[in-house]
Amino acid sequence: MVEECSQELPAIVKGYQAPSKLENAFLTLLRDKTTNTGSFRGAVEKLVPFLVDRVSECLEYNDTVIQTPVVDAYVGTQLANKIALVPVLRSGEALLAGFEKYFDQAPVWHVLVQRNEETAKARLIFSKVPAHIPEDRRENLRVIIPEPMIATGGSLTIVIEHLKERGVLEKNIIVASVVAAPEGLHRLAEQFPEICVTVLKIDDNLNEQFYIVPGLGDFGDRYYGTH
Ligand code: URA
Repeated sequence: MVEECSQELPAIVKGYQAPSKLENAFLTLLRDKTTNTGSFRGAVEKLVPFLVDRVSECLEYNDTVIQTPVVDAYVGTQLANKIALVPVLRSGEALLAGFEKYFDQAPVWHVLVQRNEETAKARLIFSKVPAHIPEDRRENLRVIIPEPMIATGGSLTIVIEHLKERGVLEKNIIVASVVAAPEGLHRLAEQFPEICVTVLKIDDNLNEQFYIVPGLGDFGDRYYGTH
């Protein structure tokens, strides 16, 4: 069932559904401020397969004919795209192992975006994205950014611009998020109308400190036990 939303969802958000009861149970563990680091990590790990399933809707597939032990020709399915994973340090790294299980041939292009203390402006300070993606590989490439929280969308904007500069097609960029704020989704939709965003739960809004409400606090701090 597609969730009723007080605000209209931007078209970049694909296949948004109300989380299942099981997904909600793990999301609740993440939200609970008394959840300890180990249980927080466990809940993240258990949620990733559900997120991968949402992402699978943004990928392309071919028919493939195989033999089973019982029949000579069975028309099955195979993934048609080449995949690259772009975790934004440090929170994106928390989802990476889960995505690598499903996309085990995918290169991992780490990026780091940090806020400059003096100017308060975020900028890209480290990137393992290839300098130039050859023209003939662009169409079939899908680049997945596992990003636990979409708040303002500021860091993602920097990363997506960077990927486009290196040759990734905007329509082939997929953001996979656990919890998102409508504000960030609308900003991304305005700037990158062709991307695909999948998210387990869209929350209410951002507060004055740019935390997602009800949210779960600082994802990186809670996952890495640095709060
Ligand atoms: N990043 C987080 O980790 N939490 C928020 O609520 C917003 C951004």
